[in-house]
Amino acid sequence: MKRVLDASALLTGRQFPGELATVPGVLRELHRHGLTPQLEAILDTQVRVLSPGDEARERVRAASESTGDAHRLSPTDRDLLALALDLGATLVTDDYSIQNLCRTLDLPYEPILTPGIKEAWTWTYRCTGCGRTWPEWHEECPTCGSPLKTARPRVTRGRR
Ligand SMILES: [Zn+2]
Repeated sequence: MKRVLDASALLTGRQFPGELATVPGVLRELHRHGLTPQLEAILDTQVRVLSPGDEARERVRAASESTGDAHRLSPTDRDLLALALDLGATLVTDDYSIQNLCRTLDLPYEPILTPGIKEAWTWTYRCTGCGRTWPEWHEECPTCGSPLKTARPRVTRGRR
């Protein structure tokens, strides 16, 4: 399966199976964020950077005007959609406007935030007196002085 990845998808550093591609605008966005060696390696070896054709661009433009998403989509967003059309690829994105356009264009998409991949467990500490939870351990609750106990781990989202 072919996948077109948006900037958020690539920034997870996650390994996506299949043939991967993205557009030049995403690459520029990633360079603004600063590339980790891991991401650089993924880009060098696994991701093709391609520009979509004019015909696909035109289909995306027309569709975005019909759904009212035109103003919420950046030129890079449009290129991602057009490239996915060109390649017959699945678009990997969490952006609702892009997903909306995918539905209009009959283009398959998948969200990035798959449970168990982007989620991480973090322990928290709950006060036995006032019930406040703290992200770090204290001998006594900084608010009321009661002892803390370890609470259930909470789920934290990875960086977008
Ligand atoms: Zn307390």
